[in-house]
Amino acid sequence: MIKLEKIIAHIDMDAFYASIEIRDNPKLKGKPVLVGGKSKRGVVTTCSYEARKYGIKSAMPVYIAKKKCPNCIIVRPNHKKYSEVSKKIFKIINENVTDKVEKVSIDEGYLDLTDHKIDYMNRLKYLREVINKEVGITFSLGISYNKFLAKIASDWNKPNGLKIIKFEDVPEILKPLSITKVHGIGSKSKENLNNIGIYTVGDLLLLNKEYMVEIFGKHGIEIYDRIRGKDLREVEYKKRISKSIGKERTLKEDTKDIKELKKYLYAFSKEIEDSIVEENLYFKTITIKIKTTNFETHTKSRTINVFTSDSEVLYREACKLIQDINIDEKLRLIGLSVSNFINYNKKQISFFE
Ligand SMILES: [Mg+2]
Repeated sequence: MIKLEKIIAHIDMDAFYASIEIRDNPKLKGKPVLVGGKSKRGVVTTCSYEARKYGIKSAMPVYIAKKKCPNCIIVRPNHKKYSEVSKKIFKIINENVTDKVEKVSIDEGYLDLTDHKIDYMNRLKYLREVINKEVGITFSLGISYNKFLAKIASDWNKPNGLKIIKFEDVPEILKPLSITKVHGIGSKSKENLNNIGIYTVGDLLLLNKEYMVEIFGKHGIEIYDRIRGKDLREVEYKKRISKSIGKERTLKEDTKDIKELKKYLYAFSKEIEDSIVEENLYFKTITIKIKTTNFETHTKSRTINVFTSDSEVLYREACKLIQDINIDEKLRLIGLSVSNFINYNKKQISFFE
């Protein structure tokens, strides 16, 4: 069987903590900023790109950083704030790009975009706009056909970077990279490899599997495969069962024409059916939402006797609900949603008819 090629993105915020601090205090902009403990034993958790020019790195003791750059500005970390920003970012990703997201740390994650082959670039472009506007920091994106390469790619041209590694680029494109870019090669292995004259991925590609195992233990096979572009790890996203699935739209023109409104309900019913069938869900409760010209919101729900995924049933119930609402004002928005789900593994017939 032919396995379809995957599209995986790795997203990584640029100098996450430092970027947030600079965002919140514009005086820090363009300056060497490091976030870390101020005590003698404090270490740098993140530093701005300006600070990196002085050779300051994460995990470096703050007193050494100060020696390298005496006028650097040290900001104490505010972890609560960072975790809130992180939550906001991942919520934006979920809502605008995909919910197949594996968060691997506070500021990075993998996105499985295979389902969005046609428009994933537009989604990611839009994501950059939204995060820029609503969060106010930048990120770098790597795109490839597996996790290992996507992560290598996101690190390619930070900050605000975008890099795509294609099937045909591998392994050539990896050859000049330092072995430290390869996940699984720590500082100790690096030293050992340097001692035998191996500095780049290109050098590493010359070693055979047996020798890799000798150096890295059982981990050796993974590294051997990965630098050849083979990595079968899945993006491990949590499958969430939504509480409700729905559609709503602001009308082009305010109206109380029931015929016109039913057109929307019909379109929504079809769209909702598509979403729930894809997720193997069946619903029992139907809710209609309207907003009047005066911005008053009303909702009305009905729970039917059987679970269904049928758009015809949904449309019929929605029409009843809109008639029950008794509209005397024009509407500016109409919405339809379904909830109260059951998850069947195989399609079952609606008993409604
Ligand atoms: Mg980062």
